[in-house]
Amino acid sequence: MNTKKMVNNCKKKRAALHNLGCKVNAYETEAMGKMLSDAGYDIVSFSEEADVYVINTCTVTHTADQKSRQMISRARKKNPDATVVATGCFVESSKKRPEHADIAIGNNRKAELLKLIEEYEKSREPIEVFTDDNLKDKTFEPLRLSDTADHTRAFLKVQDGCNRFCSYCIIPFARGPVRSRAVLDVMDEAKALTKKGFKEIVLTGIHLSSYLDEGHDNADLSDLIKALSVNPEIKRIRLSSLEPGIITRDFMEKVKDVEAFCPHFHLALQSGCDETLKRMNRRYTTAEYKAACDLIREYYPDAAITTDVIVGFPGETDEEFERTRAFIKEIGFYELHVFKYSKRKGTKAYDMKDQVDENKKNERSRELISIGKELSKEYRKKLMGSKEEILTEEPENINGTEYYTGVTKHYVKMAVSAEGRERNVFYDGIVKEFLTEDILLLQT
Ligand code: SF4
Repeated sequence: MNTKKMVNNCKKKRAALHNLGCKVNAYETEAMGKMLSDAGYDIVSFSEEADVYVINTCTVTHTADQKSRQMISRARKKNPDATVVATGCFVESSKKRPEHADIAIGNNRKAELLKLIEEYEKSREPIEVFTDDNLKDKTFEPLRLSDTADHTRAFLKVQDGCNRFCSYCIIPFARGPVRSRAVLDVMDEAKALTKKGFKEIVLTGIHLSSYLDEGHDNADLSDLIKALSVNPEIKRIRLSSLEPGIITRDFMEKVKDVEAFCPHFHLALQSGCDETLKRMNRRYTTAEYKAACDLIREYYPDAAITTDVIVGFPGETDEEFERTRAFIKEIGFYELHVFKYSKRKGTKAYDMKDQVDENKKNERSRELISIGKELSKEYRKKLMGSKEEILTEEPENINGTEYYTGVTKHYVKMAVSAEGRERNVFYDGIVKEFLTEDILLLQT
């Protein structure tokens, strides 16, 4: 299809996009924004009047469902004549076109966005396309992002789908089975991203640990990292969320010599109690999780290990929660993301007995958030006086002074004086003090 021609015919149109949810969604929203701007649309803010609105929805919690509906109806209110497109996990898992949306696009059909808008605008007949019938061959959806140059860190989606079926999670239903992007294709996009000035690449996926390119000698995630490391323009390679099972000696041996590899491991824990993990259908024990952390620290003694934890999972007794609390302290995470369990229809845990009272969930959540803050501070304190390097992202005024902030390889946020400095540049220096609770001063 000649996309330029499509918009020229309609005179310069305006499109607005809104993203909800995870890094993978954010990547896809950017990719759809790029498709629209390549087709000649002006991309405007979601609060402005536009001809086309695209809402990339999320369904990870009830609140995410609600927000997805709200944003769709907000778009409709903003311009009753606009073409409103709803896509993403909320749409895919409900297999229904949400109220106020003209077009519903399933998760593996987003690449068809322009074609579907054109179809709709010709007929004004509502359109619904979902994933199932299109996913038989389990191919990776060809959405690409290479030309987006607004950030210093590029998220590169290399994997989609999940086969794990954790008992609380709707994602395998919304995203479908595991599929991976070919190594050569990832290298290609990474090259295009570095040409645009990106120095840091974050490999993302719904279940990144499942990455496998059978057509490239069964390349797994560590092989992909090695393959990317041959490009000297990629200065940092970061990974998004991982499962502890991926941390093997073989994996660590492969990445240890990759200079660009960031020793920041987000290892999803969810619970520090074996009985709870079993009910969650997580396929590891706390002993295995601990062994993974020990192995990471054998290779990178100061590795930043971060995690997600769910509190108030059905049947979580005070004693079980206590085990989680103790385990978190034992591991000594750098950052802890705490989620309160929320029921998702269509999952196993929805019907589990002994659902935990909301007050109890709040109490447990507060307790873990506070432990998380302490652990994070401890981790940062240890950096005092050491030499660190950040890649500058945004200018920020902190306590009346202008700084550039950025993160270290370990994902610790630091700031350098803005004087004579620029965005997207590496600066090193000595860690001096806490500027705020979350930002350290780097004296260059
Ligand atoms: S691993 Fe579990 S929590 Fe993660 S996406 Fe798959 S089913 Fe959901």
